[in-house]
Amino acid sequence: MNYPDRFDVIVIGGGHAGTEAALASARMGCQTLLLTHNIETLGQMSCNPAIGGIGKSHLVKEIDALGGAMALATDLGGIQFRVLNARKGPAVRATRAQADRIRYKAAIRGILENQPNLTIFQQAAGDLVVDNDTVRGVVTETGIRFFSESVVLCTGTFLGGVIHIGLDQSRGGRAGDPPSNALAERLRALPFRVDRLKTGTPPRLDAKSVDFSVLEEQPGDTPTPTMSYLGRRDMHPRQVSCHIAHTNEQTHELIMANLDRSPMYSGVIEGVGPRYCPSIEDKVHRFAGKSSHQIFIEPEGLDTHELYPNGISTSLPFDVQLQVVRSIKGLENAHITRPGYAIEYDFFDPRDLKHSLETRFIHNLFFAGQINGTTGYEEAGAQGLLAGLNAARRAKELDAWWPRRDEAYLGVLVDDLITLGTKEPYRMFTSRAEYRLLLREDNADLRLTETGRELGLVDDVRWEAFSLKRDAIDKESQRLAATWVQPGSAEADALAGKLDKPLTREHRMIDLLKRPELTYADIANLAEDSPMLDEQVSEQVQIQAKYQGYIERQQDEIDKLKRHEATPLPATLDYQKVEGLSHEIRQKLDQARPETLAHAARISGVTPAAVSILLVHLKKRR
Ligand code: FAD
Repeated sequence: MNYPDRFDVIVIGGGHAGTEAALASARMGCQTLLLTHNIETLGQMSCNPAIGGIGKSHLVKEIDALGGAMALATDLGGIQFRVLNARKGPAVRATRAQADRIRYKAAIRGILENQPNLTIFQQAAGDLVVDNDTVRGVVTETGIRFFSESVVLCTGTFLGGVIHIGLDQSRGGRAGDPPSNALAERLRALPFRVDRLKTGTPPRLDAKSVDFSVLEEQPGDTPTPTMSYLGRRDMHPRQVSCHIAHTNEQTHELIMANLDRSPMYSGVIEGVGPRYCPSIEDKVHRFAGKSSHQIFIEPEGLDTHELYPNGISTSLPFDVQLQVVRSIKGLENAHITRPGYAIEYDFFDPRDLKHSLETRFIHNLFFAGQINGTTGYEEAGAQGLLAGLNAARRAKELDAWWPRRDEAYLGVLVDDLITLGTKEPYRMFTSRAEYRLLLREDNADLRLTETGRELGLVDDVRWEAFSLKRDAIDKESQRLAATWVQPGSAEADALAGKLDKPLTREHRMIDLLKRPELTYADIANLAEDSPMLDEQVSEQVQIQAKYQGYIERQQDEIDKLKRHEATPLPATLDYQKVEGLSHEIRQKLDQARPETLAHAARISGVTPAAVSILLVHLKKRR
C-alpha cells in the first residue's frame, strides 16, 4: 500500500545517526518519518555503554551546540563522568561518561517521542523508490510505500551483517537483531563503491562472579562534570566506580595458541577492523613484546549486574573466551552472560558523497553513520545531525550547509571522509584537526550555536541560555580588560604570594590572567564587587585570556586559507589538461573532484605547488 501521508524527510534506522538526523530535520519544521526495525532499540548502544572521550566528546558537544540529543541523554543516563587529559591543555581535554544503557536509551526515546513533526514507525526498509536518479521514497519489507522529498540512510552495521564467534557464522545486524539484506542488495545495485569492514565486542560478565577486592577502583571526577551545555549535576543518576584489571602472560599464551580458531586470523573475515579499538587477539599478536594489557571493567547500568570488560573485544570461540576471561586476576570465577563476537558489514565509500552527505549519484539521498565507514556513536550522531539538516534543507529547497574544518570537528570528520575515504573504521581524534586550539570541547557552543539558531536547529530554551552565557563572558572579559592593578596596592599584595615575580608596574587584570601561575579565581577574588559567575563562564574567560596569542595565530592561518575556500573548482574541470601537475596528482584530483581549492589542498599528496598551479590555471580560464 501507499502510506496516505507524505513526508518531507524519511530517516531509515533509529541508531545514533538516525535519531540525530530525524531530530534535526523535525526541529527544522520538516514532517519527518523515522523508520526503524524495532522501536525498543531506538538509541541502543551496540557496544560499550560510554559516550565521549578523546576527540569524541568534541563531537558530542558540537551535536549539543546544534540542538542535538546525545549530550542531554548522556547527562540523564551517565553513571560515571571523568575529564580525560585534565592536566593537559584545553584543546585535548575530553569529557567521558559511562552510561547506564537502559537509561540512555530511555532518554533518547523520550526526546524522540516528544519532538514535534516527528513520526516513528517500526518496520524494516527493504527498498528505495528511485526515479530519474532521484530518491522519492522508501518501501518497507512488508510492502508499505512511504514518499518524501529526501531520504537519509543510517543503517549502521546492519547491511549484509555477518556475525562471527570463532569459526561459526550467522547473519545479523548485531547480536539479537536481523541484518538488512534486501536493502543491502538494492544498494549494491546502485552505482556506489561498496566494501566490507568489521568490528567486534567483548563478552559481558556477571558482576556477582567478579572479585572486585583485587581490582583497582576508578571513581569518577568530583565535582561531576556534565556533558551538555544545558546539563546539570542534579540530572545525573547515582554515580558509580569502574575498575581496572590486566591481562597476563597466561592470557596471551591462550590467545596465541588458539589463533587458528579466530575468524580473523584464519582468513574467514575479509573486512578490516578498527585500528584504535582492536580485538584482544589483534593486540596480543601486534604487540607481542607486551606482557599485559589494561582492561576497564565498566558497569552496564545501575539496575543490572552485567559488566562490560573494555579491552577484550574478541571473536575467538566461546570456550577460548571463557578461558581467556578466567585467566585474569579477579575474574577467575567469572560467568560470561553474553559471548563476544565480531561483525562484518557493508559500508559505502564516503568519497561518493558531497560535504552535505548527499550521495553524488542519487539526488536527495543522504548517508550517515557507520554506513560511511566510521565507527563510534559520536561520529555517527554528528553525521546524522548534518545529514538530517541537509535533507531538510533540500526538502525546503535551500542550499546545503556544513561546517569548515576550522569551525568544527564535524567539519573535519566530513571533510576527511569525503576527501580521503577510508580503508578502516574511521574514528575521531584531536590529532585529526589542524586547528585544535580553536576547536575545543569547552567552546563548541560559542563556535556553533549562533549558526544552529539561524539554521533552525536551536530552540528558545537553548538560545536563551547560550545568549546569557555569551554576554556574561564578554562582560567579564571587558571588566578584566578595563581594571588595572597597581604595584603596592591591596590587590597586588593579595597576589604577592602567588606571583612568580612581584609587580613592578601597573597591569590590566586580563593580562595578569595570562600568567601561567594565576587562575581566574585568583583574579576574580581581588575585587569586592567581582561577579558570581557560572563555572562555564569563568572557564571561558580564563581560557580565552590565557591562549589569546595562540588563538590569534591560528585565526590568521585560517583567514589565509579561507581565500582558497572561496575559490570553487568547476565540476567540469579536466585535470588531465592542467599543465604542470604530476600524473599522480591529476589522478587524485580526478577521483576526489574537490569542490574548492582549499578542499583540493587537503587531499593527501596534493602539494602547495600543485595548488598554485591550479590557481594559475583557474585565472587563465576566466
Ligand atoms: P547503529 O547504531 O548500528 O544503528 C542502525 C539502526 O538502523 C538500528 O536501529 C537498526 O535497527 C536500524 N536499521 C538497520 N537497517 C534497517 C532497515 N533496513 N530498516 C529499518 N531500520 C534499519 N564503536 C566504537 O566506537 N567502538 C567499538 O569498539 C565498537 N564496537 C562495536 C561492536 C559491535 C559488535 C557493533 C555492532 C558495533 C560496534 N561499534 C563500536 C560501533 C557503534 O555501535 C556504531 O558506530 C554506532 O552504533 C553507529 O551508529 P549508526 O547510527 O550508524 O548505526
